[in-house]
Amino acid sequence: MVARRAPSTRRCSVDGNPIPAQAGGGFCYLDGAHRHHYSPLPAPLYQSVASAAVFVGDPTPFGYEGQRFTFYGQHPIAASDSLWCFLDGPHFHYFEAPRSALFRFVDAVAFYVGAAPRAEGRKGVESASRVAAVYAPWVTLRPRVSVTPPPEWHGRRWASAAVLPVAAAVPAPAATPPAAARSSLAHVQTRLRAQGLHPERGQ
Ligand SMILES: [Zn+2]
Ligand SMILES: [Zn+2]
Repeated sequence: MVARRAPSTRRCSVDGNPIPAQAGGGFCYLDGAHRHHYSPLPAPLYQSVASAAVFVGDPTPFGYEGQRFTFYGQHPIAASDSLWCFLDGPHFHYFEAPRSALFRFVDAVAFYVGAAPRAEGRKGVESASRVAAVYAPWVTLRPRVSVTPPPEWHGRRWASAAVLPVAAAVPAPAATPPAAARSSLAHVQTRLRAQGLHPERGQ
């Protein structure tokens, strides 16, 4: 077998990104803009900014073991809304929501309370459903959020029942999260209690 580097490497991410299973799996902790020989997958979790594919998703199911922050509902990434997280319901990111008037925090859960142009319209709904389909097998890896959203929040309510089949008590094999992701969740929770981990030092 001849290992050949693809002639055109893809700038994959401005920060961390999932590594596709065919490239070994797991999570890439590289900081800053960098390139990979593999394509940014799963595609619905990437958005383009100036020819870079930026991972915009919850890193938990991909074995990420570092500090995580809890969000509820869709929101812009960073100050502008050129990058938009289409994840409905509770989820994690490896970055913190900005302490600005656009976010309200309830028990450390970030709710975006600004205008939501990217979430609206046919394109927004389609993007959200593609992202939801990627995360459907990993409902159990989402954060448990029981707080009441602030009154200024107008996002979509999310119920895991809407994602799981009705007979959720007997999940199909495909709906079972990978063992690595399951163990990493408990692992991260334990380690976070002990000490804050920096994603750069993850691996
Ligand atoms: Zn990477
Ligand atoms: Zn998000």
